[in-house]
Amino acid sequence: MSAKQRIVAIEEHFWIPELRDRYSGPRGISAHTPARQLDDLGEVRLKEMDAAGIEMQVISHMQPGTQMFDAETAIALARKANDVLYAATRTHPTRFAGFAELPTVDPQAAADELERTVAQYDFKGALINGLTGGDFLDGKRFWCIFERAQALEVPIYLHPGIPHHAVTDAYYSHYRRGDFPFLSVAWGFTAETAIHAIRLIVSGVFDAFPRLKIILGHLGETIPFTLWRCDWILDHVGGSRAFADAFRQHFYLTTSGNFQASALACCIAELGIDRIMFAVDYPYNSSAEGVAFVRNAPISEADKEKIFHGNADHLLRLGA
Ligand code: MN
Repeated sequence: MSAKQRIVAIEEHFWIPELRDRYSGPRGISAHTPARQLDDLGEVRLKEMDAAGIEMQVISHMQPGTQMFDAETAIALARKANDVLYAATRTHPTRFAGFAELPTVDPQAAADELERTVAQYDFKGALINGLTGGDFLDGKRFWCIFERAQALEVPIYLHPGIPHHAVTDAYYSHYRRGDFPFLSVAWGFTAETAIHAIRLIVSGVFDAFPRLKIILGHLGETIPFTLWRCDWILDHVGGSRAFADAFRQHFYLTTSGNFQASALACCIAELGIDRIMFAVDYPYNSSAEGVAFVRNAPISEADKEKIFHGNADHLLRLGA
């Protein structure tokens, strides 16, 4: 192994004060929210990256982003968030890169903001947080975002968000505790994002956009583990290809916030090493723990290089 291994982490979050101050309730700030780290796009973040050996973060706004606001508010705040992130990438061009925040409530404006930030800011794609106004992205009104992502040759990172309020009430409310991790990190986020990804596949969106690329965090939000079963029964539902083929051809996975060796082994077995990228989910998970997880994985040094930077360098055209 070389003296200094390049490590790129691609699901790393910040927030702008204008959005932070609007978050409340189950979507918002709790005593456990690492506000100091989310506020920072400089010293605090770089110190943790340096201590863990992380060379670059591809940074995105924390969920729920701007997706719960009216169009006028969302468009203005997304632009503000992207401008702030761009300034940080200009200050630290070898350490920070960006995924765009998109005002998905107005899909055409979201597509335009994606193009603006890719063309003018060299952003590497966009990160979208779950539902917009109760709707998943398989709804055709959102497809202009995918059309633009394909044209720009950038991926969409499909990130968790809080489930629909009817689901929250029916499935999760009995076990509400404190900041409610059952609804979010423990299970609600995962179930929500897995359903979102499955809906995209069965919607036929990948027939419409055959070069569209989607990234899932948290080692695939459980889909690799259930891929055989989904493929068996959802074969050719809504699309021209088998479910598993669509998943393997259009999806990339990251290690964000899921440092479980058996889950990584399952992802590699189902999708192949070229589809797995490193991420921490900073500041909710430990950068050092994430790096140690991959370093200690029972895979070759060449495969670790692919996870740590090779696959992201290629997909996101980093350092080109
Ligand atoms: Mn995250």
